[in-house]
Amino acid sequence: MTLLSPRFSSSQSEDIDHLAKIAIIGRGFTGIMTAIALFKGIECPFHLVMFDPRPKIDIGEAVNQSSATVLTSRVRDLSIDPAVRNDFRQWLEKDDAWRHRLGSDFVDIEDSFVPGETFRTYVYGRFSEALTKRPDVVVQFLSESVTAIDRHPQAGLSIAFGAGQRKRFDAVFLASGYGLRDSSDEAATPNAARTAVVIGGGVQAVDKALILLSEGKVSHVSLISESGFLPQSHANAAVGAVFTDQPIPRTLRGAFRFLRQAAMRADAQGLGWQGIMNGFRSNARDLWEGLTPQERGRFKRHVQAVYESHRNRLPPEHYRRLHHAIETGAITVRKAKVDRIATNGVLLSTPAGFEVLGSDMTIDCRFRPSGADNPLVRSIVSDGLAKSDELGIGIVVDECGQTSNARSSCRGLFAMGPLGLGSIPDIDLVPQIVLQSHAAAASLNGWLGEAAREAVGKTSTVPG
Ligand SMILES: Cc1cc2nc3c(=O)[nH]c(=O)nc-3n(C[C@H](O)[C@H](O)[C@H](O)COP(=O)(O)OP(=O)(O)OC[C@H]3O[C@@H](n4cnc5c(N)ncnc54)[C@H](O)[C@@H]3O)c2cc1C
Repeated sequence: MTLLSPRFSSSQSEDIDHLAKIAIIGRGFTGIMTAIALFKGIECPFHLVMFDPRPKIDIGEAVNQSSATVLTSRVRDLSIDPAVRNDFRQWLEKDDAWRHRLGSDFVDIEDSFVPGETFRTYVYGRFSEALTKRPDVVVQFLSESVTAIDRHPQAGLSIAFGAGQRKRFDAVFLASGYGLRDSSDEAATPNAARTAVVIGGGVQAVDKALILLSEGKVSHVSLISESGFLPQSHANAAVGAVFTDQPIPRTLRGAFRFLRQAAMRADAQGLGWQGIMNGFRSNARDLWEGLTPQERGRFKRHVQAVYESHRNRLPPEHYRRLHHAIETGAITVRKAKVDRIATNGVLLSTPAGFEVLGSDMTIDCRFRPSGADNPLVRSIVSDGLAKSDELGIGIVVDECGQTSNARSSCRGLFAMGPLGLGSIPDIDLVPQIVLQSHAAAASLNGWLGEAAREAVGKTSTVPG
């Protein structure tokens, strides 16, 4: 299916051949955010094609699965306009439903947590507004999966999609996040289900478990965390980033000893460790770049699970609900690796050996590395358009998302959002995706401007 933006008419179809051609693969949050940044940052007219087999425009599965899903970032951290820090708050203030819900009490809205559905409506609203301001841009939505990206023989990149179709583009933004989901990911709760297994120890798994219980879909959930860790809580009172005056050591062991000690001191002073963690995270990119490949490997093996549990935190209310459910026996947490999933339960691998855990339904919320599993990502790596990061999480990118191969950067191919997690810490989170998409738009704008000037130069030097 092809959908065209409302202003597209058949009389324009010839004109669009002359426009710069840009593709975005994926219409999750990252894809939509990239489109907004392009509408704002690219000065010349362009033709944008957005690919995704999912029929509707999504703002990420993460923020779309259920209206009951509450985001784990506070309102203050969810602006999609880097120039307007409180853009989301301003939007909420104008939203009738929220005005009604909060009355005149907007004081604490910045620090509150909102449903994913609300954020989705905000992002889509901003997408529509940004598009309306660009009558010179043609947007086309193709409900197709992209199967390959290659260099085009003349210039630019060629995309293969659907049943053997191909199109040439000047720039391609890969925003395929956690890959194509199969329909079993969204399986309905079977009738008469009493027990569920939820696999994963992250915020998504906890969210799913709490929703199943609160909606009365099951009476017991086994939460299987391979590391045994579960997400920590945000501080009750909102804290920003707290910085210490001592420099952070540049080794893995030194940096984490420093973090632990600073967090313990802050806790002892009644300030909570969360501010220290926030400050540490704002230095994470520099630290990460300074680590040796061996230290990065050690991080993945020994530190990542505990780091993740402190990085992606639950709203305090959810944290209380989780621990209440654990205390009352509604949730049982198991530290184990899931070896196999069957229709009637899972096969667990534990230090004591294998164990079958029966259940009426199973939901898999494990972190899926965005790169390793994805055939499209594998193909661009094997064709030399990009290289994998050393942890095998995704692909190597710079701060704009531009990919590089073994020898040079690959002009025109960008891998956005979670695909760059092996290069950029926190690039799976909204604030970082917002900054990256604007940086990418600025970089592409400079490059398209350069190309246009070169083209004019060539025409003006052609002898008459
Ligand atoms: C429960 C939960 C809560 C979260 N809360 C927060 C929060 O509060 N704050 C925060 O900052 N972050 C949060 N996150 C993280 C953040 O939302 C995600 O990292 C982000 O949504 C990722 O979006 P994405 O578009 O990159 O990927 P995805 O959501 O995975 O979207 C990728 C899209 O690409 C499409 N696609 C894939 N392959 C192809 C292909 N070959 N061809 C065409 N299309 C393709 C897919 O169909 C999909 O629609 C949360 C995550 C979860 C799971």
